[in-house]
Amino acid sequence: MNSKINVSVLGATGIVGQNYLRLLADHPWFQIVDVAASPRSAGKIYIEAVNENWLMTGEIPSSMKELVVRDVQDFESIPENVYCIFSAMDLPEKEETRKLEFEYAKAGYPIISNSSANRWTKDVPMIIPEINPDHANVIPIQQKNRNLPKTGFVAVKPNCSIQSYLVTLTALEEVGFPVNQVQVTTLQALSGGGQATITSPDMQENVIPFIGGEEEKTENEPLKILGQISDTEIKNTDRIDISATCTRVPVIDGHTAVVNIRFKNDKPSLDEIKSIWSNFKGLPQTEKFPMAPERPIIYFDEENRPQPKLDRDLEKGMAVTVGRLEEDKFFDVRYVALSHNTIRGAAGGAILMAELLVKKGYIHGK
Ligand code: NAP
Repeated sequence: MNSKINVSVLGATGIVGQNYLRLLADHPWFQIVDVAASPRSAGKIYIEAVNENWLMTGEIPSSMKELVVRDVQDFESIPENVYCIFSAMDLPEKEETRKLEFEYAKAGYPIISNSSANRWTKDVPMIIPEINPDHANVIPIQQKNRNLPKTGFVAVKPNCSIQSYLVTLTALEEVGFPVNQVQVTTLQALSGGGQATITSPDMQENVIPFIGGEEEKTENEPLKILGQISDTEIKNTDRIDISATCTRVPVIDGHTAVVNIRFKNDKPSLDEIKSIWSNFKGLPQTEKFPMAPERPIIYFDEENRPQPKLDRDLEKGMAVTVGRLEEDKFFDVRYVALSHNTIRGAAGGAILMAELLVKKGYIHGK
């Protein structure tokens, strides 16, 4: 690319927002020129707004320390040279987020969102670039349905809980071993609940066997991601059933998933499955997108892996690490998988999606 695309980050002071600042600091295609958050932070320079809540290793990137934080509702102050919006804002009501995201789209901005607010909006693509890059094709349909300007649209990244296992299923399906039943138990990190969960005294030496809304998202979002585009929207697939139990565990970063699967037809051997995973490559790998992990799935033969502390940061936090593949008494096989929730499951996954949308011509500079 000749010059970088200037972007804004909404919710820049939160955990996901901070990850955007860190991951985009040296990005070859994007450059942050605007940050926004709640009225509590608006008007302050970034370093003062985030104060002692900067949770990333390393300092705040120097080019961003002095940016004045804008209120996410303030459209007048968006710099003229912004061409793409990354959103990690967490408004009190989903309906408010849903509307605000479309207000940005109506104002002509592509908005790449981490919020669940528009995940079920039928003409909004929910993309994991290794799995359903073709869902970008719903963008012109969304623009037509809603009379949006030709540069504006909403695209969303799915829930962090499904990143740890969905790509492992896609790898198997792509080479002729479709899976039709999945039982998954997630062990989700504290950072997945935002800053408040990390500091909650309830989470010390404890496991909470419930995360509001998470099991519904884990069971249903894959159905849209594996769905097909019709003339007007994305239609969910009915070729897979998922049953999920989601728990919160005292780990700072890295969602683990214990996965049991049943194949629709033939069952590959354990060695075949490991080989399929290790050789899997999606569009981001073949096109060499900057945020793409070279190895999207890494299999460990060691029986005590994957572990959040050891493995969440592999491939810049974008790999899915897998181990413990075994025959199962009730399903065909079971395994343990892990991904970094605020990188692959949030900011990094969204940046990878934006790279895909640049390549497809939906996001561009001037
Ligand atoms: P967080 O740490 O709590 O940060 C929330 C951000 O939203 C802050 O920048 C905050 O600004 C802003 N905000 C809060 N209330 C607001 C308001 N009324 N108006 C405008 N901005 C407001 O949350 P997070 O973990 O980064 O999550 C952000 C979003 O990403 C959420 O929708 C979450 O569900 C989603 N997500 C998170 C993860 C994860 O692993 N954490 C993964 C996937 C998706 P102030 O600092 O000014 O209050």
